[in-house]
Amino acid sequence: MPQPRIYMDNAATTALRPEVVQAMLPYWTERIGNPSAIHRFGREARRAVEDARRQTAAALNADAREIFFTSGGTESDNWAIRGVCEALQDKGRHVVTTQIEHPAVLQTCAELERCGWRITRLPVNGDCLVDPSDVQKAIRDDTVLISVMTANNETGVLQPIADIGRIARDAGVCFHTDAVQAVGEIPVDVEALNVDLLSLSGHKLHGPKGVGALYVRKGVRLRNLILGGEQEHGRRAGTENVPAIVGLGVAMECAARDWPIHNRQVSALSRRLVQGVQSALPGVRLNGHATLRLPGNVNLSAEGVQGEALLMRLDLEGVAASSGSACASGSPEPSHVLLAMGLTPDEARASLRLSLSDENTLEEVERVVALIVSIVQDLRRAR
Ligand SMILES: *Cc1c(COP(=O)(O)O)cnc(C)c1O
Repeated sequence: MPQPRIYMDNAATTALRPEVVQAMLPYWTERIGNPSAIHRFGREARRAVEDARRQTAAALNADAREIFFTSGGTESDNWAIRGVCEALQDKGRHVVTTQIEHPAVLQTCAELERCGWRITRLPVNGDCLVDPSDVQKAIRDDTVLISVMTANNETGVLQPIADIGRIARDAGVCFHTDAVQAVGEIPVDVEALNVDLLSLSGHKLHGPKGVGALYVRKGVRLRNLILGGEQEHGRRAGTENVPAIVGLGVAMECAARDWPIHNRQVSALSRRLVQGVQSALPGVRLNGHATLRLPGNVNLSAEGVQGEALLMRLDLEGVAASSGSACASGSPEPSHVLLAMGLTPDEARASLRLSLSDENTLEEVERVVALIVSIVQDLRRAR
């Protein structure tokens, strides 16, 4: 009898919540209106999009007029960075970011650099944390943007965003955070965090793929992204993806409502997973700060074992995990995040990321612990 499959790659993507699926269904069948149309079908679709905007805003403690729907986290990151830099280029051409950002931020910054911008990429310590005083020191007269992620996608480590936000505000510099991993797992409040722009993505929070949002604080100058219509206040033109936007709104509402239960359940599962593996095997480290991390993220390095090999053996057993980040897997390059933390290339290549959700059970965790233990023992014997 084949064992049921176990999904522990929620940092790569998540399953839709049944409530989200239910809410979306009518917008593919009966409620087919174009939100820009003036007839009843159109008005119904417009209302659905604006409801989703309110749900998204409420979950972030923002105003609905500050929410712009996009095609996902990558687009939101690109728009935030290019949009602010292009709007403010007469003020200066310097950006402060970190070495551990998602490629959507790193590559957008690299492109600006090719166009003559100066980019400061701040380091992290061995726990994967950025030091806010480094941000303070990096700010210059010509700095127009600071971009630091809320939670890292590989280690789950939570950055001191509220502190960095206060520094940015005191210096009068615009502050963007990629909160794609954090939104849905922990409470994210744009006022408490002092952020000016924030990226989020539907499919990382049990919503649909291909939809996301950018929060833009009132008064922030940002170049329009797509021209050709009045959608999203003329800033991101094109007919709205109504079903996906409806799904994102409901996913945001569920996340804001359920996070305390989610947090408690998922933290307990992650703790058991780490403790189970570490108590049975020597030479296993948890990468990233032990407590300042997303409840569902477990990033382990087992000495002398390639994360990629462990990942493939787990896949044969029906367990989905990741080594490094989803975007980097398939290439043997060690993770830029783990290298920035000071791991050697071999230590970085040993890493395995398991990312849990509240759909995982204790039974699944116990089976994964037993599998990891026996596969690591096996791989170590074969060295
Ligand atoms: C997944 C992810 C993105 C990209 O989001 P998409 O919606 O898949 O484009 C950006 N940043 C982080 C931190 C992510 O984890």
